[in-house]
Amino acid sequence: MRKELVYNIPDLLRYERQLAVIGRSAQLKLRDARVAVVGVGGLGSNAAVQMTAMGIGHLLLIDRDTVDLTNINRQPLYDEQDVSRPKAKVAVEKLSKINSKIELIPIVGNFEENADMIKEVDVIVDGLDTLESRITLNALAVKFGIPYVFASVEGYFGNVATILPGRSACLACFMPLKQSNLRPCSYAVYPPAVFLASSIEVSEAVSLIINGYSPLAGKLLVFDFSSYDFDVVDLKKNPACPVCGDQVGQA
Ligand SMILES: [Zn+2]
Repeated sequence: MRKELVYNIPDLLRYERQLAVIGRSAQLKLRDARVAVVGVGGLGSNAAVQMTAMGIGHLLLIDRDTVDLTNINRQPLYDEQDVSRPKAKVAVEKLSKINSKIELIPIVGNFEENADMIKEVDVIVDGLDTLESRITLNALAVKFGIPYVFASVEGYFGNVATILPGRSACLACFMPLKQSNLRPCSYAVYPPAVFLASSIEVSEAVSLIINGYSPLAGKLLVFDFSSYDFDVVDLKKNPACPVCGDQVGQA
C-alpha cells in the first residue's frame, strides 16, 4: 500500500459536497490513509462502498469467502452474476468503478495469514461475523497498536465501539471470549441495521484519520432498530484482560 496518490482539481470536484463539511486538509488526510476492511460481507461491503466513495486512498479488502445468493439482500457490492466468485476480488472490481483514483488491494484468504499487510494500515474496520474471529482481530490490533473499529449486528440490534490500543478498553476487556458468548454466526440480520452500523464504523474511521480520535473511542454504542433506541456506554479497561491487561508482556 505505497502507491502515492496526487489530486488535481478535477479529482477534488467529486468530493465537493463533503469538502464543505470536512475541509480540504482533512480530505488530503483521507487520500493518504490506509484502511483494512477485514471481512467484506454485510458490514464490510457497506463500509467499503462508503470509504471508496469518500476517497480514502488505500483500502485493503480481506475476505476468504465467495459470494452467496443469501448475501445480496444486505451486501450491495454483489449481484446475481457474482455468486460463487471470491468476495474480495468482486469487491475491488466494483469499487474501482465507483472511484478509480484510489488504491484497492484484494486479499482472498484469512486475515490471520495476512497480518503483515494489516500491520501497515492506519485503521482496521471490522467486517467479521463471529465473536471468535473479532477477538483474534482485536488481539492483532492491540499487538500492532492500530485503532480498531468494532461492529456487530444481530437481528435489529447493533453494537459499535472504537478501540485505541493502550488508551482505551479493548474488545476482550468488555466482551471476554467465554464459551457462553460463543454462538454460531447469527442468521437473523435486519439489513438496515447493517447499513447503520457500517455507516457509524465509517464515520469513526474518518474521524480517526482526520482527528486522531473518534466519538466512540472507549465507548460502546448500542442500538435497537425496532424501536430506534440508542445508547452509549463508557467502557473501562480491565487490568486482568488477557489481551491488554497489566500482566500482558510481563515475564
Ligand atoms: Zn483488553
